[in-house]
Amino acid sequence: MRIRAAVVEQQAAPLVVEELELDDPRADEVLVRMVATGVCQTDAHAWHQRIPSPLPMVLGHEGAGIVEKVGQGVEGLEPGDHVVLSFQSCGQCAQCLSGHPAYCARATEANFSGSRLDGTSALHRAEGDRDSVHGHFFGQSSFATYALTTSRNTVKVEKDLPLELLAPLGCGLQTGAGAVLNSFSLAEGESIAIFGVGAVGFGALMAARAAGASTIIAVDVNAQRLSLAEELGATHTLDASHTDIAEAIKAITGAGITHVLDTTGRADMLTHAVAALAPMGQVGLVAGARPDTVIPAAELALGKSVRGIVQGDAVPQHFIPQLVQMYRSGHFPIDRLVHFYDFDDINTAFTDAGSGDVIKPVLRIASIANLEQE
Ligand SMILES: [Zn+2]
Ligand SMILES: [Zn+2]
Repeated sequence: MRIRAAVVEQQAAPLVVEELELDDPRADEVLVRMVATGVCQTDAHAWHQRIPSPLPMVLGHEGAGIVEKVGQGVEGLEPGDHVVLSFQSCGQCAQCLSGHPAYCARATEANFSGSRLDGTSALHRAEGDRDSVHGHFFGQSSFATYALTTSRNTVKVEKDLPLELLAPLGCGLQTGAGAVLNSFSLAEGESIAIFGVGAVGFGALMAARAAGASTIIAVDVNAQRLSLAEELGATHTLDASHTDIAEAIKAITGAGITHVLDTTGRADMLTHAVAALAPMGQVGLVAGARPDTVIPAAELALGKSVRGIVQGDAVPQHFIPQLVQMYRSGHFPIDRLVHFYDFDDINTAFTDAGSGDVIKPVLRIASIANLEQE
């Protein structure tokens, strides 16, 4: 079928919305008509080739839309269902089978290779050259009017909530909230410092507040974000540009903090994070790190640990509905973070996210009212 999709032709070149061909769903696949999709830092990493995905490519991995068609082997989804899309995983490795698909042994192929796990691709140029454009980014490539997914990364949600608000649950917000609720299992009365309050940091902050954390310290260099962090539940905010972060955290907590979530990936912030920890405290890294980053190992002696966290260790089918319920009950105010753009303004959305002006850009791809009239 003919679709419209935003193509990255070359590293860092502006995205161009053009017409492409998308094959029909195979037996295990789902065709989703996109209503909205979030723009995430990882899209920018692939666009600038800090993640080596093949180009040209259709990015996008926070899609939300309406099921158009399902393959004959798909259970639990049917045309008309409202769905939020998330990351892809193989379903067969030890991590997938034990409920940790974010650490899938084939995560790189499943999310970044530009094709399905069997190496085929459903996306091609209208003129018919099947290898000329890559898709299946995070098992979706949602910067498009339609996306081909599987039941593993397609999560049914209730129809009364706006899909354009739920879209960022599929990656950024899930990553932050999952780190707090799944990886840290943050308990009532525990403390957390969040380094970097972008979309992932705000997901963590809202989850920490919902979990009953006694101290929530937001650390950033952007005054506007710090002030929003205060409104959404931070008990303290620190401006990283003129504060000794570890000292300031210890001044607030006395013994040090039990948890630090670092969303910045900066080596200097990792050093501050370890120094700020209380004995047996944990640092979680969600942004990866430069290969030459050194952890001050001697400082870990008192039972401190540093761990990587992917996608908040979430099982999307389980965790996204949990976040939807938190939104419904007022504990996860996604609406405070998003800024909407028309699909054709995708380059502006990337610029605004990159400059820090907008926390979570969401592209409106189709309006539900129009879809339901058709
Ligand atoms: Zn797997
Ligand atoms: Zn993402």
